[in-house]
Amino acid sequence: MTWLDLADDTPFGLDNLPYGVFSAGGAPERRIGVPVGDHVLDLTAAAAVTAAAFAPLLTAGVLNPLLAAGPATWRDVRASVREWLTEPRYADQLRPHLVPLAEVATHLAFEVADYVDFYSSEHHALNAGKIFRPDATELPPNWKHLPIGYHGRAGTVVASGTPVVRPHGQRKPRNADAPSFGPSQRLDIEAEVGFVVGVPSTAGTPVPTADFADHVFGVCLVNDWSARDIQAWEYQPLGPFLGKSFATSVSPWIVPLAALEHARVDGPPQDPEPFEYLRTGEKWGLDLALEVRLNGHLVSSPPFATQYWTAPQQLAHLTVNGASLRTGDLFASGTVTGPERDQQGSFLELSWGGQEPLELPGGVTRTFLEDGDEVVISATAPGPAGTRIGFGDVRGTVVPG
Ligand code: MN
Repeated sequence: MTWLDLADDTPFGLDNLPYGVFSAGGAPERRIGVPVGDHVLDLTAAAAVTAAAFAPLLTAGVLNPLLAAGPATWRDVRASVREWLTEPRYADQLRPHLVPLAEVATHLAFEVADYVDFYSSEHHALNAGKIFRPDATELPPNWKHLPIGYHGRAGTVVASGTPVVRPHGQRKPRNADAPSFGPSQRLDIEAEVGFVVGVPSTAGTPVPTADFADHVFGVCLVNDWSARDIQAWEYQPLGPFLGKSFATSVSPWIVPLAALEHARVDGPPQDPEPFEYLRTGEKWGLDLALEVRLNGHLVSSPPFATQYWTAPQQLAHLTVNGASLRTGDLFASGTVTGPERDQQGSFLELSWGGQEPLELPGGVTRTFLEDGDEVVISATAPGPAGTRIGFGDVRGTVVPG
């Protein structure tokens, strides 16, 4: 029940209520917002006019103060928003603070502290191995013992819609004698799911898998733009560097874990059994259905539920050495790729290393991205009673370097 005029199939119903940052009407001021139906509730204003105790957490123009406040406050804010949008007595007070979604500009929702990217899809790891190292037919020997990851560049995590400038760098094709320098000729995407840390942890104290929801606030979509030619030449022996650090795009709305209760599933069976610190008592696989579009055409539908390592395992692993968490830390899943050809989360895989161009409508083909190409990643998750929980799109257009 709500006093709002909500379509039954809206991806932004009362069971979703994600959080983001927006501006409207050409005003520069950034405000915390909650998309609901085809509007955004100005949460900064709504909390002020209802004199909510948590109103001071919503005035910074970023989510960080709310992220840091912790699970009890997160539950309180969510319950309040649901009450406001349900109880008719709030309608007159809050209607002026509903802005049409089409009229808002969205921004980076949180100030990113540290950024870590994992590599937790078994299908992606097998595909990437075969493409990058044609002699390798198996996973790396550590892969099923730990969630492989690397520390990325937090300062170049950008809001959805930010143009992506084609990076320059060194590359050496396999059959070339010497490296060359120039614009990447193998610019790619990685369709991923990101987890946003709210509550920090203490240096020297690992975060056990069971404490995942005490620290992690919510979930967004991530496009880990990747220059495959730069990556292939630079990555051994220390891993990804300039092939990935030029831009990482994130979706505008952070879906709280509480909205994903109906999306929780068991992850795939893990064999060998992981070390004690990586074991989980609760199911934290997430049944998110991703979609990747290139210039409006659906090119892939990666199923997040197939990921081998879950987010609590990733969080436990990234802190097991005593590394501490900060409010605003972002860790991403790694490319989401399912077992089928049309479930691959990168053009590296979709074009099989560039050898099998993708055919698009109108006789267009693609291996890697061309200038002017727009990539949009979206996702939905099951909600209660057959509803769908929507994630905002993460989009980006490639511009010449
Ligand atoms: Mn990645």
